[in-house]
Amino acid sequence: MLALTYRGPNRIRVEKKPAPKLEHPNDVILRVTRTAICGSDLHLLHGLIPDTRVGCVFGHEFAGVVEEVGPGVVSLTKGDRVVVPFNISCGTCFFCQRGLTGNCENTNPSANVASGVYGYSHTTGGYDGGQAEYVRVPFADVGPMKIPDDMTDEQVLFLSDILPTGYQAAEMGEIKPGETVVVFGCGPVGLFAQRSAWLMGAGRVIAVDPVAYRLDFARAYNNVETVGFEDATGGDVVSLLMKMTDGRGADVCIDAVGCEAEGSVAQSFLGVKAKLMAGSATAINWSIAACRKAGNVVLIGVYGPPFNAVDIGSAMNKGLTLRMNQANCKRYMPKLLDHIREGRIDAEGIITHRVPLEHAADAYELFEKKKDNCIKCVLVPPMAA
Ligand SMILES: [Zn+2]
Ligand SMILES: [Zn+2]
Repeated sequence: MLALTYRGPNRIRVEKKPAPKLEHPNDVILRVTRTAICGSDLHLLHGLIPDTRVGCVFGHEFAGVVEEVGPGVVSLTKGDRVVVPFNISCGTCFFCQRGLTGNCENTNPSANVASGVYGYSHTTGGYDGGQAEYVRVPFADVGPMKIPDDMTDEQVLFLSDILPTGYQAAEMGEIKPGETVVVFGCGPVGLFAQRSAWLMGAGRVIAVDPVAYRLDFARAYNNVETVGFEDATGGDVVSLLMKMTDGRGADVCIDAVGCEAEGSVAQSFLGVKAKLMAGSATAINWSIAACRKAGNVVLIGVYGPPFNAVDIGSAMNKGLTLRMNQANCKRYMPKLLDHIREGRIDAEGIITHRVPLEHAADAYELFEKKKDNCIKCVLVPPMAA
């Protein structure tokens, strides 16, 4: 089969490799029909996630058709169309029982933090991902959700990650009616966090991003106020945000950027170029700085390893509540499916590019370099074209 594989930092290629086989009675094999490139795939590509091994297949956002069914699987049959959450979860452990499928303790033997994740290095279990023609789905009775007959794969594809991730960010912000929410980042997760903030009753939503076309997209898609780095004198985004919020700061700040944030030369050098810490902590520090005292700061952008220069003293003295997690996709999928069906969220509306899987490496470049006003890129395997 064709698959997008990692060849070392900043090197990927589409190559032929053996199709996955059933390895456990609870597995299914999925024929992928749509798969997306995620901002967090770029952290992998850039070598910022530890133990990313040559040959591994990327891709944790996918939908497809069940092709082979393990003998222990009871809820799926060959031919079912499903969308699969990026977290691999067992469904029965301490965390899964509490809906915390992103923290499942049975699917990632190599760490006691995140659950297993498709296509996201051996730090999250070493599972091959879905940017391929086929993918093995373990615990197939737990994660996958059947796609209703009247909905397309593209309509629901983003239930796999970015929509629940953005939604959970807004929910963790505990937004009260009329409150002001600042979302750092106008990538796909930021866009869905902004949209979710409106659904939860925010009075103002302010989106921050360094890239003009992404701010344009956020205004058009979400009707938000926007702040570009160039709007702020000397690039001082935090001072501008304070000015916009009566000098007090926002009620809720959401970091939807993670470990490759721009905006601070020192952070970018130490964290991204020299790799002396795990990426740049600029977006989380700005979230702490632009949040009012006793406000809520939510971190949903991905940080890899456990060490960063975060301004924790300010957070403590301001009395902030910090919340963060990988998204527990599964618990949000039914509710968000309803939002899509009822037209409150146009999830597929953020797709700007559809690229054949054969050209996945070009698609990465398009997304990474922010060419052609790319917001979200979906890969289409040959059999699904
Ligand atoms: Zn993702
Ligand atoms: Zn579990």
